[in-house]
Amino acid sequence: MLRLNRCTLALFTSLLATAAQADTHYQLDLAGHDRHQVAVNARFVVDNTEPLLLQMSAASPGRYARHDFAKNIYALKALDGQGNPLLLQRMSPTSWQVSGHQGEVQVSYLLFGNHADGTYNQIDSRHVHLNMPASLLFAPSLRAQPATVSLKTLPTGWRAATQLYPQAEGALSAPDVDYLMDSPLEISDHQLLSFSQASAGKTYQIELALHHAGSAEEAKVLLEKTQAVVRQQQAIFGELPDFANQRYTFIADYLPGVDGDGMEHRNSTIVTSESSLAQDEFAQVETISHEFFHAWNVERLRPKNLQPFDYTQTNMSDALWFAEGFTNYYGKLALKRSSHFDLDTYLDKVQKPLNQTLQTPARRWSGPAAVSQQAVFVDAGVAVDKTNYANHFLSYYTYGEVVALALDLTLRTQYDTDLDALMRLMWQRFGKPETPYQLADIQQALAEVSGDAEFAAAFFRDSIQGPGLPDFTALFTQMGLTLSAANPDKAWLGALQLATFGDAVQVQSVSRDGSPWASAGITDGDLLLQLGSVRLRTPDDIDTALKTARPGDVLAVKFRRFDREQSVNITVAADPALALRVDKNASRASVKRRDAWLGAKKL
Ligand SMILES: [Zn+2]
Repeated sequence: MLRLNRCTLALFTSLLATAAQADTHYQLDLAGHDRHQVAVNARFVVDNTEPLLLQMSAASPGRYARHDFAKNIYALKALDGQGNPLLLQRMSPTSWQVSGHQGEVQVSYLLFGNHADGTYNQIDSRHVHLNMPASLLFAPSLRAQPATVSLKTLPTGWRAATQLYPQAEGALSAPDVDYLMDSPLEISDHQLLSFSQASAGKTYQIELALHHAGSAEEAKVLLEKTQAVVRQQQAIFGELPDFANQRYTFIADYLPGVDGDGMEHRNSTIVTSESSLAQDEFAQVETISHEFFHAWNVERLRPKNLQPFDYTQTNMSDALWFAEGFTNYYGKLALKRSSHFDLDTYLDKVQKPLNQTLQTPARRWSGPAAVSQQAVFVDAGVAVDKTNYANHFLSYYTYGEVVALALDLTLRTQYDTDLDALMRLMWQRFGKPETPYQLADIQQALAEVSGDAEFAAAFFRDSIQGPGLPDFTALFTQMGLTLSAANPDKAWLGALQLATFGDAVQVQSVSRDGSPWASAGITDGDLLLQLGSVRLRTPDDIDTALKTARPGDVLAVKFRRFDREQSVNITVAADPALALRVDKNASRASVKRRDAWLGAKKL
């Protein structure tokens, strides 16, 4: 009853606003969807006759590289309110100016898209899947004004899944351009499932708009897993975010020919996978968990350097280790607490980023804050030249996840508190009131939660600005776990990307500093011919050669570089991989601590 009244009031207010302000209106005509094309008609109304600047975004919130979405729009025309042509000039690769209007500008263009993920568009006979920054021209001068979207020529049975506000006659609205840009649109014949979740005296509808070829039973299982993870995340923060219209929508595309991805938004998320639920055994719930955690962390608990978002260029932040890395940590932890992962699976999930972080040579140069700032190059960034990332870049997802683990275990073993308490404090102080935070604010919250300002200052100096990490072996012992060499006797030369090339094996990547390959001077482009007594014809032959070798052995490696054949000696090392296992001799106190960490939380 209360909810109905609120909706009616909101609709009434919005209709009044429409009459007074003449919202920007977009009409999307789907007639050409079979050929990856949507026709867009946009109407802009301004209170002056000055030239109107129109912008196509060069960035998409949540993805930090530059994306020139303007490359996929064409046949651009501008008319005035009476249908007379207006002068349209391109001012930059991503902006246009319309002159000679009397306050009303109608623009039409064609939009092409055939790449479904959280950043791009896919328009085909199965769906129209749109990310708004990749789709809509907007007027920067009207950024604070409401906008409406209507759909034309919808195939039978298709409907929209979106966080845009529903209006009369199927129209959709956004209170401003930022909300419009944050609202992806999936138009298809998808299934819609939902459950209700109570929080802070309100009832929220959590929807799953599922576009897939799987069974109704699989959809039900996914909904149950989603519900369990939503409850575990709510338990961390003590409440759900106050979703607009008391509704949050998971928009899932599990279809051949889409790109695996997840992209967070305020009241919805896009989750995509080319595998079916059956093929992936519901591994898709990992993305669901990660993206839902973003509803708190990054959508509302937001770094100051991403606010307001700049649509004209890349947006750099030193906080992605927290925004993405901590979200990665909690995405998996919530799946353990909700019983999607058993203990062994969870330890496996922790072990992988831990090995990557402890063994990368990149930490010589950068701590978590500095790798966050490189997101603009790597987060779907495109380069034609080769890079040396293996030696100087570690993903802020991986690194941040390991920092979260380090902090959680330190707080649990040394301060009688935990990372959940830090997240709750950050939520209450910055997320809920939507006050953007800076790194110093996290440090201050850590000082309060731990009661040790010196520890917080040292942690930020050494492990956030610097590359230090605590002694994980000691931390895990106190959680009833052991961290030790996985294969101490296994011969190892280091990670290299290799490919068969003619009758030999070609090195595809730069060798990692500190590895036997690098110490022997082997690097990208080299054609490996022989290792010890084994003639190399495929990458597997290297494993064959190492099978009989022991750490400390010296092998001759014969290789060709720029047509010159050479030979060097390579000293075999021991595999540095670490394994995280349950300690069968753990003390009762350690097991109790581990259960408090990984066990289900009560709402
Ligand atoms: Zn994320």
